[in-house]
Amino acid sequence: MADLSNPKRTIEVIQKYSFVFQKKFGQNFLIDPYVVEKILTSATLTKEDCVLEIGPGIGTMTQALAEQARQVIAVEIDRNLIPILSDTLAGYSNVTVIQADILKMDLKKLAQEQNGGRAFKVVANLPYYITTPIIMSILESKVPVDSITVMVQKEVADRMKEMPGSKEYGALSLAIQYYTKPEIVANVPPNCFIPRPKVGSAVIRLTRYKEPPVFVMDETLLFALIRASFNQRRKTLVNGLVNSQEITYTKEQIQAALEAQNLSLSIRGEMLSLQQFAELSNLLVKMIKKESK
Ligand code: SAM
Repeated sequence: MADLSNPKRTIEVIQKYSFVFQKKFGQNFLIDPYVVEKILTSATLTKEDCVLEIGPGIGTMTQALAEQARQVIAVEIDRNLIPILSDTLAGYSNVTVIQADILKMDLKKLAQEQNGGRAFKVVANLPYYITTPIIMSILESKVPVDSITVMVQKEVADRMKEMPGSKEYGALSLAIQYYTKPEIVANVPPNCFIPRPKVGSAVIRLTRYKEPPVFVMDETLLFALIRASFNQRRKTLVNGLVNSQEITYTKEQIQAALEAQNLSLSIRGEMLSLQQFAELSNLLVKMIKKESK
């Protein structure tokens, strides 16, 4: 069953199986062949690659992925889509469909079992209600991935790329930029999906760094500092950190670290770059070491 990205074919499949869209699963199926093609070329697949697709839907992108990659592992939560996928993917021997909630899967184990521990390329038109938890859990739990090429809400794609000082700059921007190089490769309007989402979408490619772009002695502390700064966005950085349960440094230590960085004591967290957060965390780590001598 070829070319599901043609809207007529998608409607035929949906009618054949009397499929009912489930809002709770963020189901907006792609019906634009150019967008499928754009995602595919951005993912730069080769016959060596094992692709992890999150949420194959009726298999529109899965078919195209199977043509270009060595292997595709497609994880779909909705049981009602499994018989449809057996039908639409019947001609592809290199696709494995797993019915599961991606957030509950051990993806490191999956990489071990399905790809000998080698890195996946993640490609997906993501369910928007769990975009951030999916991406963050892949990055933080160090699942082996080379790149993540995904359709997300436009606003979320923009946030991932924001720099200090902008209103949308925050913990997500910093985490994404610590682990990956983000590039928006396409903007996609609502009429490319069935049913139409209420918001605009974008395809973003996140290429994982082999080493983070900044040197950090204690990653846990770095992310605790970032969370604390943006949890209390309107406070100064010093007050945000002092009020946080997660941060155990004193006000004096934090002020001393900021002074060592030539930063104002009244600066807000949203003005610090990733490099400055990294330096702040490294200065604080050294302080504790000095005091515990
Ligand atoms: N890839 C298809 C396409 O482009 O037409 C469908 C994309 S649709 C935006 C998101 C898909 O993710 C749906 O098929 C939905 O059922 C599935 N999904 C939602 N939550 C999921 C989860 N937690 N784990 C795995 N799949 C999920």
